[in-house]
Amino acid sequence: MICGNILKVKESVKNIVEAKKENQREVKLICVTKGRTVEEIREAINCGITDIGENKVQEAKEKFQMLEPPGNIKWHMIGHLQTNKARDAVKIFDLIHSVDSARLAVEMDKEAKKINKVQDILIEVNTSGETAKFGVDPENLTELVKEAIGLNSINLKGLMTMAPVVKNKEDARSYFRKLRECREAVNVFLYTLTPHYLPLTTLSMGMSQDYEAAVEEGSTMVRIGTAIFEG
Ligand SMILES: *Cc1c(COP(=O)(O)O)cnc(C)c1O
Repeated sequence: MICGNILKVKESVKNIVEAKKENQREVKLICVTKGRTVEEIREAINCGITDIGENKVQEAKEKFQMLEPPGNIKWHMIGHLQTNKARDAVKIFDLIHSVDSARLAVEMDKEAKKINKVQDILIEVNTSGETAKFGVDPENLTELVKEAIGLNSINLKGLMTMAPVVKNKEDARSYFRKLRECREAVNVFLYTLTPHYLPLTTLSMGMSQDYEAAVEEGSTMVRIGTAIFEG
């Protein structure tokens, strides 16, 4: 079942990208494994999954230890991160999607430096304006970008967002479009700051309920749990 579901998601993503004639865009499938057993994760890996997403540091740490090796798996932190978890997080994760404050960025930079790592990160943006959501507000984004790119042991790759739960799939689209516009604004900002700075490329957006719209709007990473394990 898991293999079939993974194929279905990959096929659907591929069709959307092809229909947009953007064959050069790679959309990475991140298999979200929060609440899943190590056996389920192994099965997903056997079906070709290379990227694992977890939303709690402690849970990820335990699974990480049980799953080593294989060492070719990339680990993604997609949940809200408290500053005091930064040390453990930089040890495990290849990409941290949920940086939403300068304080967290500074802490992560400090911890990454200690282990001679340059930590890849994304900034989480609250595109819906819902107060219950994590993420930086779009109007404060460039300020955080400016802080983040000044830190040598973190490497800002792009942006992440979570759409609210919507009744109609299509209703999620505006949040994804908003994130794409945020990336464009940041890239203009980066260019005016220093023309040598590489533009942000990654857009982490789209979950089981809404990934089609996210891919249509330019997603480069979809984070899928339910559609893989229960679909
Ligand atoms: C759980 C989670 C997902 C995956 O959600 P599904 O609906 O199971 O696909 C994606 N992103 C984040 C941040 C999550 O916490």
